[in-house]
Amino acid sequence: MRRYFASRIRFGLARAAGAAVLVAVFAAAAPPRKIRVLVDPGHGGKDAGAIGWKRTKEKDVNLRTALDLAKRLRETGLFDVRLTRTKDVFVTLPNRCRLANDWKADLFVSIHANYAHDRREKGAEVYFLSDHASDPEAARLAEVENAADAGPPDPSRDGEVAQSILGVMARTENLNRSSKLAATLALALKKKTTLSSRGVKQASLYVLHWTDAPAALVEMGFVSNRKDAARLRSASFRNKIAKALASGIVEYARSKEFVEQMRQGSMTAGTQ
Ligand SMILES: [Zn+2]
Repeated sequence: MRRYFASRIRFGLARAAGAAVLVAVFAAAAPPRKIRVLVDPGHGGKDAGAIGWKRTKEKDVNLRTALDLAKRLRETGLFDVRLTRTKDVFVTLPNRCRLANDWKADLFVSIHANYAHDRREKGAEVYFLSDHASDPEAARLAEVENAADAGPPDPSRDGEVAQSILGVMARTENLNRSSKLAATLALALKKKTTLSSRGVKQASLYVLHWTDAPAALVEMGFVSNRKDAARLRSASFRNKIAKALASGIVEYARSKEFVEQMRQGSMTAGTQ
């Protein structure tokens, strides 16, 4: 009997040790908390955004896709998700950024649809920040998307960040992460939808400039193009876009860049 107990205790200890190792492995690999994603459906209320084929309003397709994306992200159990708007209301650009920054979002994804006078222009493209537009079209886009522009969401803090070397380093790091996020989203759209891919571009877009988190802005397609607009008006096609974006966000969340970001974030949180 004694031997039996002894072996049972040994077995129990071994199992406990194994479990402890497993817990340690998971603790190292898994983020310490749910990942905060701020989903930003562009425009809303008095600001319709672009109006295209059959009077398709950008603000409507943005909101519907964003709501679907938020739902899919929540369903994974990995993310805490907030939206800058859940209905057809106007939200200023500074307020969109404040929502992300005050909440300390880990990721910021803005959802838009594109417009061009040339109705043949079509396809999806994903933006991350640059003070210099990647091409004249990107410069034009910044003019359109920044139309509801205002001053910085928090002027005092901007001066502080710009002056410190740490601020510059953090900004460079954030830009690298944003570039990775944008590339992952563009690839997911290319692989999982029939939208033609216009790739990744850079522009000085307000919401990308003023959010602290790695940020990307998705232009899902052109409301001015008949075929793209028909797709964006279709709930089943928007589902495909939302599904593709959700899978891209999950993939980005698994990247070494993001794991590092979360690790640094939890270390900073621990020292505060
Ligand atoms: Zn827009």
